[in-house]
Amino acid sequence: MPKKGHIPERTCVICKKKEIKDKLIRFVAKNQEVLLDEMGILPGRGAYLCMECFPKLKESLKFQKKLRRALRLEV
Ligand SMILES: [Zn+2]
Repeated sequence: MPKKGHIPERTCVICKKKEIKDKLIRFVAKNQEVLLDEMGILPGRGAYLCMECFPKLKESLKFQKKLRRALRLEV
């Protein structure tokens, strides 16, 4: 049986879909702000969004709230 390489999976915080890390967009929390981690190198608590949810983020306040909650920025 061929051995598969380990591909890290992450879950989209909006739709809960599991995707490999490369297909998700990472956000991190910094000083109460949500930062887009384009290079995947920012330290800190991260949350992931899939390609389908990401474009809707700007329009959807609900999505923004969910993302903030996932990053524990909600007070
Ligand atoms: Zn999603």
